[in-house]
Amino acid sequence: MRKKLETSAKDRHCMFPGCKHILSIYNHEIYCHVHRDQMAEEQKLKTPYHHRS
Ligand SMILES: [Zn+2]
Repeated sequence: MRKKLETSAKDRHCMFPGCKHILSIYNHEIYCHVHRDQMAEEQKLKTPYHHRS
């Protein structure tokens, strides 16, 4: 049996509300590249020092 390339299911959409991006089968994230970066930024903002008004 041949080892196949690891891919994700086809026709997956970005989980971001309202985003219609179709995820690549090679993208194992739940968000498209735009929202994956955006979510990563939000995670950083949730860190303790939050010294804005
Ligand atoms: Zn998206």
